[in-house]
This record gives sequence, structure tokens and C-alpha cells, in this order.
Amino acid sequence: MKINSFIIPFFLTLSLFSFSQENSSENPCISLGEYDEIASQIKENITRLKLDMNNSVLRTRPSFIWPIRAIDSWNDKSFYCVSAYVDQNGTTGQIKDWNCGTNTYDGHHGTDLSIWPFNFYKLDHDIVEVIAAAAGTIVAKHDGEFDKNCNASNPNANYLVIMHSDKSVAVYFHMKKNSITSKDVGATVVAGEKIGVVGSSGNSSGPHLHFEVKTDFSNSTSYIDPFYGNCNNLTNATWWVNQKPYKETAVIRASVHTTDIVFPTCPGTETINESNVYSIPFQGDGLAPGYAKFYMFLRDEVKDLVADLKILNPDKSVFTSWSYTSLSDSKNKTMGYSKKLPTINGKYTFIVTYNGTESSSDFTINNSSTTSLNNITSSNQFLIYPNPSNGSFTVHNEEIEPNRLRIIDLKGVHLHDYEINKGDLDIHTNLSPGIYFLQDKDNQFLEKIIIE
Ligand SMILES: [Zn+2]
Repeated sequence: MKINSFIIPFFLTLSLFSFSQENSSENPCISLGEYDEIASQIKENITRLKLDMNNSVLRTRPSFIWPIRAIDSWNDKSFYCVSAYVDQNGTTGQIKDWNCGTNTYDGHHGTDLSIWPFNFYKLDHDIVEVIAAAAGTIVAKHDGEFDKNCNASNPNANYLVIMHSDKSVAVYFHMKKNSITSKDVGATVVAGEKIGVVGSSGNSSGPHLHFEVKTDFSNSTSYIDPFYGNCNNLTNATWWVNQKPYKETAVIRASVHTTDIVFPTCPGTETINESNVYSIPFQGDGLAPGYAKFYMFLRDEVKDLVADLKILNPDKSVFTSWSYTSLSDSKNKTMGYSKKLPTINGKYTFIVTYNGTESSSDFTINNSSTTSLNNITSSNQFLIYPNPSNGSFTVHNEEIEPNRLRIIDLKGVHLHDYEINKGDLDIHTNLSPGIYFLQDKDNQFLEKIIIE
């Protein structure tokens, strides 16, 4: 596995992390000894279970779905990057991937999918599952090995091998200790079935899945590359149901943090320090008073592409904005900026766009000390219900004389006027979530309206 990240100086407002974790031709994901061990295990199991290797059923090549997925509660736009494709160049010392690029390492027979960001946090919390890319029969499995390796020096990995109906096999390697499916060798799995959790067992320098496909398990040179492109010499068509692009350039996460994210050295677990609620006055550890950290995470960044970062007010106008220009290509980039928080109550949005993709996080400002508007007491002249509402509510007027109602925002901007007689008035607004006030004809603040 190989992940590059580039360090860029940026005055005061920036924090970043970089890491380099590598498998190589000297330290491959699967050692020659392990290939032999897996092949003999499969052979034994086929004999023991009397699996029919010569049946007359039509042998169709499998079509793969993506072999990893994040659990439903993980809300980032994505959760991985491709850290190495299959090496298509058989010459030692030369490398080439299916797209004629160099995202591989010498002699690599599989596709490495690294989970990112927060790879050890994800490992600890079972965030990224390994799923069967195609239906088949379990023909080899091994579990119980240490799963937090940081360099390619431990040969014992947790793995599963699935044989498809055409007798090709898929090898799922480096999984988390004791995460592998309890199904026995000989049992069948369906496509999409959870078979483990991404880990860093075996020859691995960080949590990733090594996904390798072979047409003949007993032949070390029978590996194929499921991605089809101009430089794939191993197959004549894609093996994916929907082949993903070579690069998936995107912002996959934008988030707001009380202080810096802690990225310890491998295999430490990251401390994310994320929060979506800030009480004013706010003091973050190591930050200027009233500041928070705004992070964005770019995958497959491309030199000269510009990321636009904005904090939006509750009414979606821009509170503040800035930009970032990629200075070089990289597989992933983490950028953190210290920015002053708003001080007026409401729900704000931090939003980042990059290469036509978008990620955002909402955060709420609770200011208990400053706005006099916030401390008004009810006059009981008008009754508002429901309150909070989604923007549609009823105002009940106990007074006999007609009155004028005006809705204003926290800055005192007039938004809507209504005439109200004694009784009920149904009001339908499309106000953004936040806090507003009702004024009567004498411009008295009468009631707080909360839109959720
Ligand atoms: Zn690998």
C-alpha cells in the first residue's frame, strides 16, 4: 500500500497531516509463502469437501460490486482511496497500472483499497466492512492474527478466499482480527454479504483491503486486473458491474472541530474532536478565543484545481469564504483552517466544493450572553403554535382590534408582514431554520419564533 500526501505551508490557518505507508516488491501484500499456503489450503478444502471442479453448469465470469462499504451511520461522502492497482508490467523494476499510470508497486497482484480518513478510528469502530464482491463458495479462511501492523513485516494475515462459479477466486486480505464471517469453508456467500472488516493484518502498513482475483488458484501467474483500460494486458473486459473511474477526485468530507484533529503515528487511533454545537463565548484548545477548526478532506486531488470553502449564515448568505488551490496531485489531502465562529444564534453550514463535488456540515451557535433579542419575555398577547415549527404555524390573537404582525430576523431585517384580526391566523413561510421574532404594529418584540 502506498499513500502520498504533500505538505504545503500556509500561514497560521492551516494544519495538516501526512503519512507514508508502503508495501513494495520486497514487502508485498501477500508473500510467496502465503500464496503457496493459500493454494494448498484451497486444494485440500476442495478435496475434503468434494467441491465439483468439473461440473457442467455454464461457467460465467463474475461481475464484481465494490468489495468495501461504510456502515450506514458513517455520513462522509466516501471513505477510501485506491492506494495501489495491479502492476501490469511484468518486468522487475518497472511498473504500470491498467490506465497506463503508476498507481501500483512492482509485482503487485491485487487492488489495495485504503480506508481514509481516520483509518485506525475506522478499524477500531468497524466502520468499513468487507463484502463479497460476487457470490461464491468459501474455499479458504484464516483469522485470529494481530491487525494493527504499521510496516510490512508480519506475514500472518486474516483473510478469506471465495471461489466463483467459473472457478476464479477472489482473495480478501489483511482483515481485522476476529472479524471474518463465522461461515465455514464450503459455505456459500451472496454478493454484498459482509465477510469481515478492513484491518491491517499481515504484510500491511495501514488498514486496507488487498483484493486479488485469480482465474486459477493454483497458478501464481493467473491473477487478473478487474479494471479494464488501455494498459490492461490481463483481461479483455472489465470485471466490475460498474467500473469506477481511475481517479475519483472529490471532497469527501467537510467538518467542524473544537480543536485540531489528533493524527498520532501508526497505529494510534485518531482523536477527531468534531462538534456541531458551539456555545458562545467559545474557547477551543490551543485556538484563539472564538475560533474553531474547519477541515476538508480531498481525494485524488489534481494540481491547480480550486476548492471553495464557505461558512453560510442561517439564511444561506455567506458568513465568510476562502479557497484552496491544489499545488500538486495527491491521493489524499487533509486541510484544517482556524476560522472565527459566528456569534449570532442559528444553524450555520460549512460547505466545500471541489471538482464539481460537495461536502458540508451544519453547526449550531448558541449564544446565551449577548443578544437582548434573545432575552425577551413573552407578552402573551399572541399565542404561536406549534413553536418550534417547520415554518408553518398559527398565531392566535386574543385582542379585539386588528393588528399588524411582522416577522424579523436576528438582525432586525423585516421579512414578512401580515394583518391579523381577533382569532387565529395560519401562516406558511419558507424561512430557513433559525430564530426569528414577531413584532406588533408598535414594533414591540412580542414572541420568539423557532424554525427547525
Ligand atoms: Zn495489495
